[in-house]
Amino acid sequence: MKIHEYQAKEILRKHGVATPRGYPCFNVDEAAEAAKKLGGKVWVVKAQIHAGGRGKGGGVKLAKSLDEVKQHASQILGMQLKTHQTGPEGQKVRRLLIEEGADIKKELYVGMVVDRGSQRVVLMASSEGGMDIEEVAAKSPEKIHKITIDPAQGLADKDAEEVARKIGIPAKAVPQAHDFLKGLYQAFDETDAALAEINPLIVTGDERVLALDAKMNFDDNALFRHPEIVVMRDLDEEDPAEIEASKFDLSYISLDGNIGCLVNGAGLAMATMDIIKLYGGSPANFLDVGGGASTEKVTEAFKIMLHNPKLKAILVNIFGGIMKCDVIAQGVVAAAREVKLKVPLVVRLEGTNVELGKKILTESGLPIISANNMADAAQKVVAAANGEKH
Ligand code: ADP
Ligand code: MG
Repeated sequence: MKIHEYQAKEILRKHGVATPRGYPCFNVDEAAEAAKKLGGKVWVVKAQIHAGGRGKGGGVKLAKSLDEVKQHASQILGMQLKTHQTGPEGQKVRRLLIEEGADIKKELYVGMVVDRGSQRVVLMASSEGGMDIEEVAAKSPEKIHKITIDPAQGLADKDAEEVARKIGIPAKAVPQAHDFLKGLYQAFDETDAALAEINPLIVTGDERVLALDAKMNFDDNALFRHPEIVVMRDLDEEDPAEIEASKFDLSYISLDGNIGCLVNGAGLAMATMDIIKLYGGSPANFLDVGGGASTEKVTEAFKIMLHNPKLKAILVNIFGGIMKCDVIAQGVVAAAREVKLKVPLVVRLEGTNVELGKKILTESGLPIISANNMADAAQKVVAAANGEKH
């Protein structure tokens, strides 16, 4: 699960990580109020969307008067903000963060992720902040310093200080940077985060360190023990099809092709998308209905796929292991009838009771295209999506 910058900063502050002061706002009046409450002479008006690169896209603006705060706020609120992370259609801005303007001397980078290889949290830090860290990693990997954190010990004092020095934090600010990094790790650990990124972490003119930007993602499987994080979910930032799917415990991810996929098992779902591509097609979604897919679940899955106006054909690819093929076939038939399916449907079944399952599909009278194996299924669904008749 993702949250907004202002929410991530609230979490970080609770763990002693220094950030600029600021308030979230939903309209221009609130933005002006927030700037007055903050005081000072320079404010930053920041679009709150679940994507980075807002600065370059025109979603982060400096204001030197209350009038400018209002101008920027009215311009940014409601805009369709396009960044390299939003896709070409952009994301509508509904919330702002009004923050005190910071005196930036240096922009650095700090991030934490769960590293699957070492099965530990890895701290990454670089002197090259404010820009795309992926680009730094590709062009000058030596500028990224990594520390693998021992979960029993937490982030060691000497590691925190050493990495702070390596990325160019001045000696005077090293003790504060040490507390900053320890706080960041504590926040990460206690919230079951999957990612925390401070880009940029800044050194101010008076040599303090501050988190100028903050991004946190959380492990969905741990959310049950973090109601305080679940309430931060902003459904406006999520794909409606994915929200609907999550209600039925379906793993669904929207993609930009035109072939709907309904598969049991994440591995088989990945392989199904691959083979569709191999035969020149393009999947409209990833969908894993799970091991115990009921008729109801299959029907909901069909409905979600059919909401997509780009959909041209559907491929159902099921391996009946724990589930029997005849049960699945009944589910597919019932679902196809309920949703009054208009697009071609290719079904590939394999496993327990496969013959019985195929018989149910044939006898249903529905125009289901039966396939014998994955390659056959992929070729048939790609042809169907291209409007070729069988
Ligand atoms: P994004 O990464 O989405 O572009 P950031 O929060 O990193 O958004 O902001 C982009 C840039 O705007 C920062 O690198 C920094 O130069 C400037 N900026 C952001 N917040 C402030 C602030 N409070 N004071 C001064 N400059 C800021
Ligand atoms: Mg940033």
